[in-house]
Amino acid sequence: MNRLRAKLNAPRLFIKRDDCTGLATGGSKTRKLEFLLGDALKQGADTLLTHGAVQSNHVRQTAAAAAIAGLRCEALLEERVNNPPNEYEHSGNVFLDTLFDATLHHVPGGTAMDAALEDLATQLRAQNKKPYVISGGGSNPLGSLGYVDCILELQKQCAEMGLRKPHLVHATGSAGTQAGLLAGIHALGLNWPVTGIGVRAPKETQETRVHGLANRTLELLGHSPDLPRAKVVADDGFIGAGYGQPTEGMVEAVQMLARNEGILIDPVYTGKGMAGMIAMLRAGAFGSDEDVIFVHTGGSAALFGYRWAFGQP
Ligand SMILES: *Cc1c(COP(=O)(O)O)cnc(C)c1O
Repeated sequence: MNRLRAKLNAPRLFIKRDDCTGLATGGSKTRKLEFLLGDALKQGADTLLTHGAVQSNHVRQTAAAAAIAGLRCEALLEERVNNPPNEYEHSGNVFLDTLFDATLHHVPGGTAMDAALEDLATQLRAQNKKPYVISGGGSNPLGSLGYVDCILELQKQCAEMGLRKPHLVHATGSAGTQAGLLAGIHALGLNWPVTGIGVRAPKETQETRVHGLANRTLELLGHSPDLPRAKVVADDGFIGAGYGQPTEGMVEAVQMLARNEGILIDPVYTGKGMAGMIAMLRAGAFGSDEDVIFVHTGGSAALFGYRWAFGQP
């Protein structure tokens, strides 16, 4: 990202375009769903069940994956934003969910989502359906393998492009992305730092969750679950008022990427992740031997649910 780099007086700056993974406007959940769908099909499922926030990218990609595999999709959407405008409720990812013919159930903020999803699965089983339950964000050890794969890809690309020591920066939410990245780096014996920028949970909670999931992913890979706790970093300084709530730093980051690189990032995840990376660059937080790579985990479809955050009428 040469223009952004010049703007920020930064070291060499790269972006991993996981917004281009191809599944229905792309994003990180595509990599996880590759493994989860395989398991669902092996188990003979006919319906994918999952949950997320109203503007969930995960639900949109799951609905698209279900369409490709010829399965039904049902999703619980949690109202996490107070008094949202009409377009938050109906445009962006929600509109796309309906194009994929997903069945959507809106539930109030603070609902115990995993328990509610199990209730829905029980109801469907009583109707002789075969639901396959995908935890929030597809973040379990199987889903996290998608990001172990991403490290194999990055290792090859970094070698081809002659990068020095990569330092990955990305937005972290349900933890599977960071867990998979860290498990892959650890299993391959690489010494690449990863900085997660949190979008919801406090630092300690998020790091504990990522660490646990990374170790369970290592076990699934047949590796000992010995990732050092100190390798897990999740900064909670860019969340603002809460999950999905706009911040000034997010708006600046979305506009900066659009205006300097022609790249769309999103208001909930990558906008805050990029705000974190910009702040780190301004503070000179990266080592002089490091090449910074922002992992673009997708989400631009949510922009259409968030015009109000950018001062648009
Ligand atoms: C889900 C998501 C993330 C966070 O990834 P997790 O694996 O849930 O931590 C980041 N960016 C976007 C655009 C997402 O949809």
